[in-house]
Amino acid sequence: MRTTHTLPHASDGFLHFFYPEQCLACESSIPARGDVLCVRCNSTLPLLNYHLQKENPFTIRFWGRLPLHSGAALFLFTKDSRVQHLLHNLKYNGQWKIGVELGRKLGWLLKASRAFGKPDVIVPVPLHERKEWMRGYNQSAMFGSGLASAMGIEHLPKALFRSAYTETQTRKSRIERLENVRDVFEVRQREQLAGKHVLLVDDVMTTGSTLEACALKILEVAGTKVSMATIAIASHF
Ligand SMILES: [Zn+2]
Repeated sequence: MRTTHTLPHASDGFLHFFYPEQCLACESSIPARGDVLCVRCNSTLPLLNYHLQKENPFTIRFWGRLPLHSGAALFLFTKDSRVQHLLHNLKYNGQWKIGVELGRKLGWLLKASRAFGKPDVIVPVPLHERKEWMRGYNQSAMFGSGLASAMGIEHLPKALFRSAYTETQTRKSRIERLENVRDVFEVRQREQLAGKHVLLVDDVMTTGSTLEACALKILEVAGTKVSMATIAIASHF
């Protein structure tokens, strides 16, 4: 039976995770027990230190678009890279544990960062219910649960709801993308968000249109502040 709870159902990928044979980024080395990355990838993937600066390439992308408290990403995303491969495994190969592990990794960094500040709750960008059912999980909520456990704060994976099944965004301009997603999201748990500093999370930031649309909805709730975190940020889009 398939469900859309926060924990994934037992797809092939889910079962496979308990016996990872290869690093999920390079597919050539054996990962350490309980990890998704090998020792080499753990030390050489392009880790970013954006969380150490209040103004950084992530927050600058939102200038003039919305008031963003803080922003950070774990890795730089480039085409045909190990980071791209890792994100592909997370989204399309049932490897939800990548989201949880990388969430923990970034969560520890954010918790130790004075510049980033202290969010109250974590809210992932939602998938359309049909897409989440087909995938078995929302990869952004997997990342959110890892962040929440490392930072010791609440995770609200159902605070936002995606009401429409949008077509692929890849070949659209930034304005077209924003038009496409502007009214797709709604806040479902207003009382849990009121007066809170919300950390909005997604797997990858390209133009930021999806994050922008979600953040604008959250900011309509009284007394909210928004920060953002993603697994990766695209260098070009
Ligand atoms: Zn590796």
